[in-house]
Amino acid sequence: MDQMMTESDPHADLREEVAKLCARFPGEYWRKLDEVRGYPTEFVQALTEAGYLGALIPEEYGGAGLGLSAAAAILEEVQRQGCNGAACHAQMYIMGTILRHGSAAQKQEYLPKIASGELRLQAFGVTEPTSGTDTTALRTFARREGDKYIVNGQKIWTSRAEHSDLMLLLARTTPRDQVAKKTEGLSTFIVDMRKVLGKGLTIRPIRTMMNHNSCEVFFDNMEVPAENLVGEEGKGFRYILDGMNAERLLIASECIGDAKWFIEKAVNYAKERVLFGRPIGQNQGVQFPIARAYAQMRAAEAIVQKGLEKFERGERPGEEANMGKMLAAEASWAAGEACVQTHGGFGFAEEYDVERKFRETRLYQVAPISTNLILSYLGEHVLGMPRSY
Ligand SMILES: Cc1cc2nc3c(=O)[nH]c(=O)nc-3n(C[C@H](O)[C@H](O)[C@H](O)COP(=O)(O)OP(=O)(O)OC[C@H]3O[C@@H](n4cnc5c(N)ncnc54)[C@H](O)[C@@H]3O)c2cc1C
Repeated sequence: MDQMMTESDPHADLREEVAKLCARFPGEYWRKLDEVRGYPTEFVQALTEAGYLGALIPEEYGGAGLGLSAAAAILEEVQRQGCNGAACHAQMYIMGTILRHGSAAQKQEYLPKIASGELRLQAFGVTEPTSGTDTTALRTFARREGDKYIVNGQKIWTSRAEHSDLMLLLARTTPRDQVAKKTEGLSTFIVDMRKVLGKGLTIRPIRTMMNHNSCEVFFDNMEVPAENLVGEEGKGFRYILDGMNAERLLIASECIGDAKWFIEKAVNYAKERVLFGRPIGQNQGVQFPIARAYAQMRAAEAIVQKGLEKFERGERPGEEANMGKMLAAEASWAAGEACVQTHGGFGFAEEYDVERKFRETRLYQVAPISTNLILSYLGEHVLGMPRSY
């Protein structure tokens, strides 16, 4: 589908290499994992060895030192080839908090090992069962005791916790009623889960609609060395927010990759499947939903592209990152819906991979941020209407 290549794409070679790697992990590989809710260890290893997961880590720390648009191209291509970057995408961007706010010693200690794959930083512990989207209401508390913090509380939807060595944790260090603003008094920690698993840390997988390796995580007097605090105590929420634009642009790129996969699959099937003496794709009722999804995808892609350009110029692409993430998630869903419908009954058969991708791409209208919260951002910060929550 050459028309789905962005004109004069500076990352064309990179995409080609990623596509070659992905070809080693066909639908059958993902289907088998899906059955047992397994983790794609070999795939993640291959991406790590190729240097893709360290794409955003500067060269001085052993990474590839690429820009956000290159990382976006990698993740888009992974999804476009039918693979699932959700198994490891967080490794690309969580480390940004350490890079931007960590001490020189933390950067030296962790970044080269994350880049080489010796350490996995795939787990991001923010969401809690009682606070959900209302992040500053989170209850996990880290109490300072001498040279360590004692952490108590619970997280939910901590994806990949069982397959990660490190977790970036957001916890309260000053009670909410003792800070001037609710966004203050939250701190960010690097938790070495290998050292505390079974000693204050319990991880329980949650079975979900798709294979996502997400977990509940419990902290019971879990000890974290004080040196693992990132930046200043009480400023953690700001550090996490700093990484949101990059995260949204990367997730949006994954959705665009999904949309391209669905569209290509639907177009091919519509051309091949012959009924009533002609290909089903000759019927406008079959063509139009696919064409509409294509238009939606291209529109989302243009916004995401704009966001990536702004980001790489050092500007704050809050508007584009939010709009791009929402539009791309909606485009991938529309493309998935058209793809299932085009395939008729076969859209439901596992061997076509359509139903698997359909389940996988639905997540991005809810996580890492739900559509309503994006609309609230646009309403308040872009359009200047009153804050709704
Ligand atoms: C598979 C999966 C993986 C995830 N991985 C991670 C992870 O690795 N780390 C992590 O920290 N979190 C993770 N999450 C959590 C994810 O970020 C949250 O599910 C998401 O932010 C929504 O929060 P919630 O589920 O608590 O829903 P709630 O906050 O309870 O919201 C429920 C619904 O109400 C709407 N809503 C809430 N408040 C408002 C409002 N003020 N105005 C309008 N609508 C509102 C929301 O949009 C949503 O549709 C994951 C979630 C899933 C399902």
